[in-house]
Amino acid sequence: MADDTETRTGSIPSSPLEPLELPGSGDWLTWVAEHGEGQLAEAAREVALVKSGPTDADTVLATWNRAETAIANAEAAHLWAEVHPDAAVRDRADELSQQVQKFVTELGQDRDLFAVFDGLSADGLDDGAVRVLEHTLRDFRRAGVDRDDATRDRLRELSEQGVKLSQDFGRNIRDDVRSIRVAPERLAGLPDDYRAAHPAGDDGLVAITTDYPDLVPFMTFASDGEARHELALTQNNVAWPANDQVLQDLLAVRRETASLLGYDSWPDLDTEVKMIGTGQAIADFIERISSASAERAAQDKGVLLARKQVDQPGADEVEVFEFRHYGELVRREQYDVDGQVVRTYFPFEQVRQGLLDVTGRLFGLEWTPVGRDEAGTWHDEVASYDVGLDGVRIGRIHLDLHPREGKFKHAAQFDLVKGVAGHQLPEGVLVCNFNRGLMEHDEVVTLFHEFGHLVHHVLGGQGEWLRFSGVATEWDFVEAPSQMLEEWAWDADVLATFARNAAGETIPVDLVAAMRRADQFGKGIYAAHQMSYAARSYYFHAGPNDDLTAFGDELQRRYSVFPPLEGAHMHCAFGHLDGYSSGYYTYMWSLVIAKDLFSAFDVDDMFAADVAGRYRDRVLGMGGRKDAADLVADFLGRPYSFDSWTAWLAE
Ligand SMILES: [Zn+2]
Repeated sequence: MADDTETRTGSIPSSPLEPLELPGSGDWLTWVAEHGEGQLAEAAREVALVKSGPTDADTVLATWNRAETAIANAEAAHLWAEVHPDAAVRDRADELSQQVQKFVTELGQDRDLFAVFDGLSADGLDDGAVRVLEHTLRDFRRAGVDRDDATRDRLRELSEQGVKLSQDFGRNIRDDVRSIRVAPERLAGLPDDYRAAHPAGDDGLVAITTDYPDLVPFMTFASDGEARHELALTQNNVAWPANDQVLQDLLAVRRETASLLGYDSWPDLDTEVKMIGTGQAIADFIERISSASAERAAQDKGVLLARKQVDQPGADEVEVFEFRHYGELVRREQYDVDGQVVRTYFPFEQVRQGLLDVTGRLFGLEWTPVGRDEAGTWHDEVASYDVGLDGVRIGRIHLDLHPREGKFKHAAQFDLVKGVAGHQLPEGVLVCNFNRGLMEHDEVVTLFHEFGHLVHHVLGGQGEWLRFSGVATEWDFVEAPSQMLEEWAWDADVLATFARNAAGETIPVDLVAAMRRADQFGKGIYAAHQMSYAARSYYFHAGPNDDLTAFGDELQRRYSVFPPLEGAHMHCAFGHLDGYSSGYYTYMWSLVIAKDLFSAFDVDDMFAADVAGRYRDRVLGMGGRKDAADLVADFLGRPYSFDSWTAWLAE
């Protein structure tokens, strides 16, 4: 449990600070370059001071904190590369990001710098400083700075090879857009706008690519099962065979890296800094989720098979590429949810204001609009707000929510400024690609999700240490707060505060109930199938295997309800094997924690101030100042458990 001291270190407003001054209609190219290079130069000066200045621990750590702050400020260039309307600014920002990356890599290998920290005594340091010192030393050791010269040389080589192999793996997927060509009548079942956007070519055939906007509606709505099969097979061969060897090489690099650093396996190295703790714990987690979801998954599959038999009497199997299609039919026919009606209740402007009102009320925050002239942002469509708590400005946020050319294609929260008490005000940016008119309910859920990261960034950015500022917890915890905030986008009372159609009618309670029921369908299958991905991610990294296709098929037979797709090589296009390495379990792990956190709230009173305030101060407001397991325990008054997730699965 949190004692008084810990509660006080929550999101209590610090001294008033000014937001970062952005150029607005001024010269962005110059500003981005000068700001980024200025911060890098500042970081270099502070690092030099760490190496040659006063050697008492408090001073060294404070200097190091300023260096890390300057590095983080320079890293924000990453944002401009994703959102700035001017391509020249985006390119310059990319160059800066590479410069920052190089600087950071060199620091990790700097033995003189390591020696300074290694020589510090933790005696007399407060808890926060001790944690900074421990984490800093851990980072250096994980980079191999304390190994002999030959080992360090080899580690550097492996690191360079790894970066190159990662880039190859990603590029092979990105560049290998494949397509099938089908007769126009095989588009039966697809919406009119989709068919209009896919006219036949000179040969009388229609091209359907493996890009998501083409692929997802086709796999969902096309009534021609053979055409869906053909497209699924095409998609599951993207980057085959090129990436098979790339992946084998990448896995070998990771295994050797882990071994040189003294770990039994790559997953052990990877999980050392995660909530889950060990590689073996991933294997255990996969088994646990798998057996917990087995019965529900089998039921779900029975429903899918029964629906398929309506189309194909005598069918005795449902294939993985039929999940979307029959899932959609079951939801439409058996749960009575018409997405076309649902979206009329979600006009964009109304949803955005509704989100601010809901989260403001929940966390006791005030959002004050800041005009573009004052905020100095990069585009007219960016909406900026100051964040107030108890009358004090504690941060600023920018919402950049619609698509435009050259902009980031997904939905994510970006750091603009990481908050450091007494030094700089936290500022975060949501970058999404939502409809300007009516939103799909999925989009509303995504907006709440991403906003969860943003609130975490601001509330967690009130402490003194940059390293623990904002969303700075273990990587397998960061999705939990945002997954939990999604619950507010599914609650009829919450939705009633802003979901209204053009006639001013509030979304009916019955419709929300039907949407919730429809959303429940298929979650057993989903959980099981996710474990077949998590198993590939873990077991591919845990030990060598000559035939990743056969091994992946075996894991799919073990964990998914769907048999492996004959002729598929999905591991070649499974991008997470690079980015997440052995950590694909993270998605389900965060969901388990999110359900547990949510169990403390009263579903009949989602705005109850005491529990929301406790969550704000003991979880979000703490940033990374404690291990995630301790944050959860401080909030719940007990260690985290699987019970809420298990109950959710059974609903
Ligand atoms: Zn997220």
